[in-house]
Amino acid sequence: MKPVIALVGRPNVGKSTLFNRLTKSRDAIVADFAGLTRDRHYGNGRQGRHEYIVVDTGGFEPDASAGIYREMAKQTQQAVAEADVVFFVVDARAGVSAQDHDIAKYLRRLSKPCILIANKAEGMVEGVQLAEFYELGLGAVVPVSAAHGQGIRGLVDAAFGLL
Ligand code: GDP
Ligand code: MG
Repeated sequence: MKPVIALVGRPNVGKSTLFNRLTKSRDAIVADFAGLTRDRHYGNGRQGRHEYIVVDTGGFEPDASAGIYREMAKQTQQAVAEADVVFFVVDARAGVSAQDHDIAKYLRRLSKPCILIANKAEGMVEGVQLAEFYELGLGAVVPVSAAHGQGIRGLVDAAFGLL
């Protein structure tokens, strides 16, 4: 069985761009509009000898009480439940947000392997500019640039190292 990787994170951090990079497809909708991918979305991926399934999700809003946001949270929780490893994506340029803290709190309660990924990290200095993400309590942050294809192979290797 191929392992399942779920991509979670607040809208606009680059989950769909990372999905496309991991699957080398254009299947997920990449948007300049926050939260456009409102359903779970599956793709097959391979890096070297590692084969996997990726699940993209819409934005995550754990405490939202109504409408599309509740549906998005439910979709994300279902994607996490069926995943072997969770990729929690944050925005290296935006820094830590309140929503990131909410998601981190949810993920810390699960006993599921999770990798904290700082996307949009092209040109950034890891030790200095990404240090604040340690406050999310999920360990080391892995810098990537989904748009530029940087850090992807190491990310997949790290994921398989947790399985
Ligand atoms: P999602 O809402 O989390 O699925 O985010 P998207 O994949 O739709 O991307 C949101 C925005 O971030 C788009 O404008 C992307 O082009 C941009 N983006 C995604 N990855 C990167 C990256 O590695 N670097 C930069 N600078 N922008 C990115
Ligand atoms: Mg998306």
